[in-house]
Amino acid sequence: MIATDSTLQTVSFYVNGKWTSAEGRPVIPITNPATGAEIAQVAYASAPDVDRTVELAHQAYLKWRDVPVVERVQPLYRYKALLEKHANDLAAALTMENGKTADDSRAEVRRSIQMVEVACGMPSLMMGDSLNDIASGIDSHTIRQPIGVCAGITPFNFPAMVPMWMWPFAIACGNTFILKPSEKVPVTPTMATTLLHEAGLPAGVFNLLHGDKVAVDALLRHPLVRAVSFVGSTPVAKYIYTTAAAEGKRVQALGGAKNHLVVMPDADLPKTVEAIIGSAFGAAGERCLAGSVLVPVGDVAEPLLKLLTEKVNALKMGDGAEQGTDMGPLVTREHKARVEGYIEKGVSEGAQPVCDGRAAGRDRDGFFVGPTIFDNVRPDMTIAREEIFGPVLSVIRVKTLADAIAQVNSSRFGNATSIFTSSGKAAREYAAKVEVGMIGINVGVAAPMAFFPFAGWKNSFFGDLHAHGKDAVMFYTEQKVLMTRWF
Ligand code: NAD
Repeated sequence: MIATDSTLQTVSFYVNGKWTSAEGRPVIPITNPATGAEIAQVAYASAPDVDRTVELAHQAYLKWRDVPVVERVQPLYRYKALLEKHANDLAAALTMENGKTADDSRAEVRRSIQMVEVACGMPSLMMGDSLNDIASGIDSHTIRQPIGVCAGITPFNFPAMVPMWMWPFAIACGNTFILKPSEKVPVTPTMATTLLHEAGLPAGVFNLLHGDKVAVDALLRHPLVRAVSFVGSTPVAKYIYTTAAAEGKRVQALGGAKNHLVVMPDADLPKTVEAIIGSAFGAAGERCLAGSVLVPVGDVAEPLLKLLTEKVNALKMGDGAEQGTDMGPLVTREHKARVEGYIEKGVSEGAQPVCDGRAAGRDRDGFFVGPTIFDNVRPDMTIAREEIFGPVLSVIRVKTLADAIAQVNSSRFGNATSIFTSSGKAAREYAAKVEVGMIGINVGVAAPMAFFPFAGWKNSFFGDLHAHGKDAVMFYTEQKVLMTRWF
């Protein structure tokens, strides 16, 4: 099902309803992170490739915006059925190029399908407001209109789902879309595009370009690109936000994270430990919602760490495609080296490694780092402050809930956090006082569903309207207010 232009399985572009050849373009190998073996190649788009795609997407927009919304969502209904039918193929490709376990991949595809389902409700979601007699004999109402060509730039860790935070909403609103997914995981979005083609979307409404900064910069600078949605690391999110805004575009840029998991003395320990493991080590820590700093409050620290270490030592690391694997590899060799560099830094800055995952990753072809826990981490240490994006959990012990809140709020990130407690009062106070956008109460991964916004704060988000939910409808539309009087 992978779209290729030769027997070499070169993943190429989908522009104006057609697959284009990779000929004459740089081609980069894609590896299976569990084995290190090359599985495909990807062609990189040049600035002229981008310009041509934007022009075609703009031509498609001039027709698509006039298609009634009830008709615009019909290909999405067909696409949803195709996604259901091919969910296992997509999940298998995802595991093969990203490394996450088969269960995680299937869960990601499920979440992707939910985005499409919500976007199918666009006839209701796009409705405006109306009020008669705002003055004598004058009525007023608002309408929402699409804005034009929209671009999406996405990260490696959710190659099926994150693009669908964007384009189903954008096109259902009447825009056309150009997706530039992560060059590290181009196979899954390409397979998803093959299905979209089968669903019968008109040519040019959705377009797929692969590539790196060259393609991104061309999208950011093209005057016909009206809105840019970005998900990725904080430095790039800042760059996208400032560059696209300076070009007069609407922009939402979701960045990195450093999420705290706070455990109160009255927490249910076995359930809390299970949730912490899922949060910190699920997807090998390569989630923007992953718990990265564990904050035990008071005397819960000793029993919590004892149980946590016991359970973490029993985790099975391996190829995500194999049944029974709890944790897969990191996405690339370079990322593995980066995560190991952070572990080294933790040791050299004086944190105590309770489990050190470096040994488990040695002498393997894949890019493995085992679960790592550091105790007695100080808030000023590098591993407590920076996003590691790997299976590394730093424990900062505190005395009170107020100390825990202060620790959370000292972070420059504000993506997600969780509190584990049986006290409604503590949970309420925590939710009210933390400067974080997504909060789990006895939930380890506070992932909002498709109909709620993905609401990071501080350096985890640049912009004002967030991804999916009602925010997406506002982001991908422009509002008009009409005042009507009949003589
Ligand atoms: P990344 O920032 O390296 O890359 C993201 C995208 O930006 C890719 O498509 C890449 O090609 C492009 N890009 C990279 N460098 C660029 C540059 N200098 N100029 C222009 N474009 C550039 O991120 P990643 O490593 O693919 O993904 C991991 C990061 O994404 C983590 O920081 C994680 O927290 C974050 N993330 C955030 C969310 C969220 O909702 N806030 C969700 C998923 C991932």
